[in-house]
Amino acid sequence: MSDNRPRRTFAVISHPDAGKSTITEALALHARVITEAGAVHGKGGRRATVSDWMDMEKARGISITSAALQFVYRDHVINLVDTPGHSDFSEDTYRVLSAVDSAVMLVDAGKGLEPQTLKLFRVCALRGIPVITVINKWDRPGLAALELMDLIEQQIKLRPTPLTWPVGEAGDFRGVLDRRTGEFVKYTRTAGGATRAPELRMSADDVPEVDADVWAAAVEEHELLSLDDKDHDQETFLAGVTTPVMFASALQNFGVAQLLDLLLDLAPAPSTIDGVDGTPRHVADDFSAFVFKVQSGMNAAHRDRMAYARIVSGEFERGMVVTHASTGRPFATKYAQAVFGREVTSIEQAYPGDIIGFVNAQALRVGDTVYVGEPIEFPPVPTFAPEHFMTATAADIGRFKQFRRGIEQLDQEGVVQVLRSDLRGDQSPVLAAVGPMQFEVVQERMTNEFNSPIRLSSLDYKVARRTDADGALALRGGRGVEVLQRSDGTYLAIFTDQWRAGATARDNPEIMLEPLPAGG
Ligand code: GDP
Repeated sequence: MSDNRPRRTFAVISHPDAGKSTITEALALHARVITEAGAVHGKGGRRATVSDWMDMEKARGISITSAALQFVYRDHVINLVDTPGHSDFSEDTYRVLSAVDSAVMLVDAGKGLEPQTLKLFRVCALRGIPVITVINKWDRPGLAALELMDLIEQQIKLRPTPLTWPVGEAGDFRGVLDRRTGEFVKYTRTAGGATRAPELRMSADDVPEVDADVWAAAVEEHELLSLDDKDHDQETFLAGVTTPVMFASALQNFGVAQLLDLLLDLAPAPSTIDGVDGTPRHVADDFSAFVFKVQSGMNAAHRDRMAYARIVSGEFERGMVVTHASTGRPFATKYAQAVFGREVTSIEQAYPGDIIGFVNAQALRVGDTVYVGEPIEFPPVPTFAPEHFMTATAADIGRFKQFRRGIEQLDQEGVVQVLRSDLRGDQSPVLAAVGPMQFEVVQERMTNEFNSPIRLSSLDYKVARRTDADGALALRGGRGVEVLQRSDGTYLAIFTDQWRAGATARDNPEIMLEPLPAGG
């Protein structure tokens, strides 16, 4: 599968239950990787997507890992990078967005834009990642299509430019009007979504009598949208000003082929990325890649550490010796995997846009660059607004040395953010995370890897703002706020709630209090 066909590398951003697992499987189904849906969304008791994918891989033998799913569609290679959600939601979820060229924002037609979607969207906006919007579950009663367009415009400030428009309201899904061709794409229900839904296209003249009324209503709204400047424009889409929208039912496999076509036709291909010093690395240059996610085996017996990297330029060949930019040391990729294959050894090459996994990569950290030839170092992956805070202390004070070393290591790896202040001292730093699962990882690794079990205790803070040394002085002793420092020197003011953060900023305009990426 791995060859130099054109690539599309994207992620799905959504709130839990919007249908990410369902659409992921439907995408693979349409790409003819697998032949029947049902393994993932058929089972009860939903688990995190990571394990869903692993179940899918086991059940069907398709090419899936915990980091990316790769398949072929219309002679393109598509890399769908996983955004861990549910209980796995963590700083990693944001970081993986640094590895994609576009995002699909999946919206539940009945619920509109939900908090996790908004957070992930903000990261896309920050990184200039173009977003395609899919309104899902149109087979179920939900909000009106025009109302959803208003919500998008108000809440994420992108102008929605629907490419398809629903014929029939949510819950009465007759099909969509393809706004580019004027055709009616008829929705055909398949039993439980179990087979690949055929796409029935017809011209406006051939719309069946039974659908005539709803078709006329759709045509009218379509014309209104055009008058309102809501037609797709490639330039504003790529610039992050507009978002193409389409309507789907992932469960019924409707709209999924349309989405794949959109990704190929509109979403950007891998392209040049600038290094920290501004030097561009073009896709045709020598091999380079950056690490966007590091995963440690939770099993104490094997200290396996997998570093996932996104290829920026050149061709990767297994066994290649690359240079690790931050240390200048050579790094042998004998154990590198093209993560998308079950038969890892059979895959020897990977190309820009692909995700590769380095096994046993103790030296590689999130944000690190590896390259061949002309040196390059890509900008660091930013840190995001933490929302959970805990103090950590060594359970056995006799093991303080191990404690300090472990915390320092986990801080450097970006497992959690470690915050300190004179007030709290070195004995009990504050750990800050985007998702609570990050604390579990810390606890496990401190016990098994650094031989220093820890005690964690919750702090009643939820919101972080960036401040400076003056801000730290001014806020000292304030109610519901504390200022701590990250190891990179950044001061964070942490507040008990949004309201207090807002009020403090309003009452003290002279104090620097900036929101952090993805923060509220
Ligand atoms: P995730 O949490 O985003 O991965 O969501 P899932 O894919 O697990 O879907 C959550 C629930 O919504 C499951 O019960 C799905 O069967 C259901 N679902 C997903 N897509 C659709 C859809 O298009 N229509 C309907 N009616 N249900 C859907």
